[in-house]
This record gives sequence, C-alpha cells and structure tokens, in this order.
Amino acid sequence: MPVPTLTSILKRILKQPTAPFHEYHVRDEIEAVLEDCPHVKIKRDGFDNLIVTYKNGKRKSRNAWVLGAHMDHPGFVRQPDLEDDWTFLGGMKPEIVEAGVEAGLRKIKGSIGTWKFPVKIADGQLHAAACDDLVGCSIILSVIWDLASLDVETTFHAVFTRAEEVGFLGAWHVGQKWPFADDAVFVSVETSRPVNGAQIGGGPVVRVGDRLSVFDHAGVDALMRTATDQGIRVQRGLLDAGACEASAIQACGRRAAGVSVLLGNYHNTTDEHEVAPEWVALEDVKSTVALLKALVATRDAGKIVRPMEERVAVRMRDYADFIKAAKKHF
Ligand SMILES: [Zn+2]
Repeated sequence: MPVPTLTSILKRILKQPTAPFHEYHVRDEIEAVLEDCPHVKIKRDGFDNLIVTYKNGKRKSRNAWVLGAHMDHPGFVRQPDLEDDWTFLGGMKPEIVEAGVEAGLRKIKGSIGTWKFPVKIADGQLHAAACDDLVGCSIILSVIWDLASLDVETTFHAVFTRAEEVGFLGAWHVGQKWPFADDAVFVSVETSRPVNGAQIGGGPVVRVGDRLSVFDHAGVDALMRTATDQGIRVQRGLLDAGACEASAIQACGRRAAGVSVLLGNYHNTTDEHEVAPEWVALEDVKSTVALLKALVATRDAGKIVRPMEERVAVRMRDYADFIKAAKKHF
C-alpha cells in the first residue's frame, strides 16, 4: 500500500478545477486518493457532499469528531439557461474579476472557469489558484492516510462539502441531516485571511469564532489542549473577516469549532486589487495535519481536566480566612 505524502496529495487536489456547484473534479480526486485506504468508507449524501468514515477497531475518542472542508472555490460557471454565457460565483469584487479576464487570466475547462495559476511548492510556501479550501480538503486526506498507514485505532468522520462559496449550501445539508452522533463536534478545516494579530507562518489558528458566531467552548478547549500536549504551535483567536462552515453547522443546532490555515491573497485578490494565486505557509499546513491527527486519535482530547466548579472550590478553601476576616465589613 503506497502511502501518499502530504505534498503529493496537495498537488493532486489543488490542480483540479473547481467552482460552486461544479466540484466533481475535486470529488473524483478525493475518492481516488482514498481508493486503497484501509478502514475508510465513503458515501455521497443527497446533496452530493462526500461523507467519509474512518473506523479502525472499537476505540473512539470521547467526542465523535467530524472534520469538514469544502470542495469549491470562487470561479466562473456557465449560466444554466444560457450555455455560452459565464457568470462568476463567490466573493470577489466584479471590477477585479473583469480586470482578470481582460488580462487573460481566465482558464476554461468544460463548464468551469478558474484563474490560470499553476500549483507551486517552493521555499516553504504553496501557491495555487484555489488554496481555499482545497488545502483544507488535502489536510483531511493526509490525516486519514497517516492514521491508516500507522494502523491507528480510532473512529472519526470527514465531510467534503459543495457550494460553500455561495452561502454554505452543502454544509447546511450536512447540518440538517446530521448522520453522526448527536454530540459529535464538527471541525471546519479552512483557510482564512489573517486578522486580529494572527500571522501566516505562526501555526494554525484555533478559531474561537468567525464573523457570524462564537464556537463550541469544549471543542475549542479540546483543540487547544491537544496542541499543548503535542507541543504544536497554534494561534488562538477570532478570525472575523469571514465566516466558515462551522457557523452553518452551528445554526443547525450542532456543535462546531474551526481550525484555519492563514492565507495570502484571499479569494485571489492582492492588496493592490489584482488577481493573483492564493498562498499558504507549508509549515502551517503540516502543523494542522499534526494537530488534527492527534485530536481524532486521542481518547480524552475533549475532556476538560479541571472543571470550573473544582477550581472555585479550591479557591474558596484557599481564601477561607480572607473571607472570614472581611465579613465584618458586609
Ligand atoms: Zn472562500
């Protein structure tokens, strides 16, 4: 069984053209990457999201984890009713899109138009047309393969969703159907624009929330604890320049958290408003794989070591004399 490396997975997934509603090339490649992977079952749900389960033995982590990434990226698609007309779907300024087309940066394949940038891995960086969120998809695939190749006994799930860039349509379907345990925690694996002091190359961001919601406290805590236990450098923070699928899942009444790899040229737009490849630091990608591997393979990752109740009880005892002495003033 040849085990694909992270680099080979990134190259295979990131070179696939994709756009909202046209995620089939990415989907096919994900299925191909997982084809000979032991302990893995793949299903397609009613919205054609991919639902993957890794199950090796009876061992489970305390929480059932559901890692999620989306397979689309802002891009051009053919108008459903006007086959010769193209429309751009996803968040990018129309004048920048237009300038990109005029500069000859649009590449057409079948019903998909993407930005014409190759996948480049050099000097610790990865540049590509669609890091968002094909880097997230690749990270999850790498987590699955690494654990399978080490024959790690655990159970967890992954979802690869459609049509995130037009408003979380695939994630909403997953959140509504929820084919997992009631208390399972969704972990959005995303790329995001660095804000609020977070820095590219500083490690994955354990996201406490996004523009729309704050995330599950125990889920965030489990991610932070795992990072500390494994000695993985992470940045804990609020990335509120955008929203991710964790918000959609949470709005369906499910628990959700998020991990982000920070990226440059978010949605193919430079600070100078030009069309460009997105890029990430490879070290951040590798650390995210390590963090998620440890998260889903550790039995007690979700356990809060010292609950607040216990902390306060200890302090009450420690300060009993102070409380007593101050009593006369009340
Ligand atoms: Zn996006």
